[in-house]
Amino acid sequence: MKAKIHAPTPANLRRLAAVLRRGGLVAIPTETVYGLAAHALDAKACRAIFRAKGRPANDPLIVHVLDLAHAEELAKFNAAARQVALRFWPGPLTVVLPKKSCVPGIVTSGGPTVALRAPAHPLARKLLALAQVPLAAPSANPFSYISPTTAVHVQQGLGGKIGHILDGGSCTVGVESTVLDLTHPARPRILRPGAITAAQLEKVLERKVFTKNRSTKSSVRLLAPGMLERHYSPRTPLRLTPRPVGTNQQNALIFLRQPAGKSPAHVYWLSKRGALDEIARNLYRVLREADAGGHREIQLEKLPATAGGLAAALNDRMKRAAVKL
Ligand code: AMP
Ligand code: MG
Repeated sequence: MKAKIHAPTPANLRRLAAVLRRGGLVAIPTETVYGLAAHALDAKACRAIFRAKGRPANDPLIVHVLDLAHAEELAKFNAAARQVALRFWPGPLTVVLPKKSCVPGIVTSGGPTVALRAPAHPLARKLLALAQVPLAAPSANPFSYISPTTAVHVQQGLGGKIGHILDGGSCTVGVESTVLDLTHPARPRILRPGAITAAQLEKVLERKVFTKNRSTKSSVRLLAPGMLERHYSPRTPLRLTPRPVGTNQQNALIFLRQPAGKSPAHVYWLSKRGALDEIARNLYRVLREADAGGHREIQLEKLPATAGGLAAALNDRMKRAAVKL
């Protein structure tokens, strides 16, 4: 199989929606990263996602829906979950809630909860509207590699495993959604930081939002499926450092902002002036470019401790990209 990249014409959107309805896989753009989508209520279709990605079955999938009304068909909402959905959907926020019985176990790794999100990307929304089914969609990359933010990234990683990729250009957010566990609404918990911050959530919920402590212990990994330590990683060893240094091609140096003057080929940067949203948008593309550059090591400049907003999500992804096997 060689994945075809489809331009987002009305006819192609109708065709791809039909592929999804009958249980096929389609890689789709969202505002966070590209997702590998399948009919979420079709267990066989969802199984194909795990196969294509090489994803372990204990790493549950996020289900994408158009809006709160569709989400309520799949999970038992509480007042807090409705509040954040009304405020942040469509957008880069995923909520984890007790699932309803229509959601197959393969989607939730056999667990009692389901993760739900209404994406903001206009093409993701068009496909959801045309397919008229919820879409399970994890990031469209081979398991544990860097997430894709363009259709070409998807083709490079999964081109031999899937038939269809919908081209929606570059993702505007660039890092995966915030995952908020609201199973116990009195104690909301961020399982994965993203563009929607703890401070934003606390303001809407008017209560403290906890952040999950990541642990490397394998027992804890099993309790928290999908929260594996190493993730988003290039194949070239990656090191986080306050000051990347090295004068030759052996070391790729990735800076947060563009260095002054002319840079040699082993020097990369994530933004012009250090804006966090630009860093997030470019992080995965630049990591991929550095990974393909034939370097022995990638040095990635650490974010300053004072940075707020998107910094929690960026720090999380950068640290996890740097975890050694
Ligand atoms: P991905 O879509 O590949 O970025 O990964 C989706 C992530 O969502 C998983 O790795 C989990 O961290 C999280 N997730 C999905 N479903 C659940 C769930 N039922 N409970 C907790 N976390 C979940
Ligand atoms: Mg992923």
